[in-house]
Amino acid sequence: MAMLRSSWVEIDLAALRHNVALVRDRVGPEVRIVAVVKSDGFGCGAARTGQAAIAGGADAVAVGDPRDVQAIRGAGVEAPILLYASTLPEAAAEVAALGATVTIHDAASLEAFAALNRPLDAYMKVETGLGRLGVNPDEWAGAFAAVDQARGLRLTGIYTHLNAPEDPDAIKRQIAAFQDACRAAEAAGLKDFTRMVASSHVVLGYPELDYDAVNTGRLLFGLVEGAWSGMAPARPVIAAVKSRVIQVKEFPAGSYVGFLGGGSLEQPTRLAVLPIGFGDGFNHQPPLGEALIEGRRAPVVGRRGIEHTVIDVSGVPDVRIGSETVFLGPQGADRIDGAELAGWLGLPQFELLPRLARTLPRVYLD
Ligand SMILES: *Cc1c(COP(=O)(O)O)cnc(C)c1O
Repeated sequence: MAMLRSSWVEIDLAALRHNVALVRDRVGPEVRIVAVVKSDGFGCGAARTGQAAIAGGADAVAVGDPRDVQAIRGAGVEAPILLYASTLPEAAAEVAALGATVTIHDAASLEAFAALNRPLDAYMKVETGLGRLGVNPDEWAGAFAAVDQARGLRLTGIYTHLNAPEDPDAIKRQIAAFQDACRAAEAAGLKDFTRMVASSHVVLGYPELDYDAVNTGRLLFGLVEGAWSGMAPARPVIAAVKSRVIQVKEFPAGSYVGFLGGGSLEQPTRLAVLPIGFGDGFNHQPPLGEALIEGRRAPVVGRRGIEHTVIDVSGVPDVRIGSETVFLGPQGADRIDGAELAGWLGLPQFELLPRLARTLPRVYLD
């Protein structure tokens, strides 16, 4: 692989399709799968992951950035795209022109989309306890009546984001609130709207809450963590982070190596330098973990630079310029998985891996 920059992330689109099929197995053929590829496809590229999700059997995709809508449409995806609440009322006309289903999340967004007087599909996001975005319960009746009366505006769905998937009582309360919202919509004369409540943890933990549609993000990317990760055999889409050695240095015992902290080395030491650093999404500070190189594990040493990482390869005789080094993923019989890497760096995988994918050159495996 001749690349100008010899560090990259491998994005496994077959894994994404596999994970969509996993969700399909759980929810059955009738429930719509709205694949969440927000934040530029969790760093993996909204267009490629959106295409792969649809190819894998999702019915629609959801994003939170209007630029992601443009990227996905630009790649020729014709499936419905739900745009989560993310724009200002003053941008309503441009947002409507994107060709997505828009989100009404409060009175101001409702008024702005209704005032366009043009055909426009919208979902309403309702507040059920998360306390972030969504129309408040005391506004439901008025909001649904206003949607019903707005010319052009068609309410095709109602959704909410459940707050505490680890707490069944909290889920029960939020579901009761969501059902109240749906009843308020029906009372206002609205029908044929999709009911959507289930993000990844809800799909895994509460199969009875599939409703008409699920909107799963992290599960499709293999980014579910802790006890949840054992509940479905999702494969990691951010499959590997690799780099190739650009310099190998030998130091005799007694050498002074400044970036290792200043003291002199007790042992003869061989260090390998890789063109990948905290600017790519890693941490600056130790503890830094290990990498796989020439069939061994080598510790990451010193502080990471913004563009460089150094590993101690004193115990790895075959290292040379160009040696492929694995920070995430398999090499030979060994493997560093997302949990191990994230554990060393003290970050959730869900934060770390998309950050790496977003920044490094991407190689798509298909
Ligand atoms: C991000 C998001 C989801 C997806 O959540 P996951 O935990 O990644 O499955 C679902 N619904 C809304 C409104 C979201 O913003």
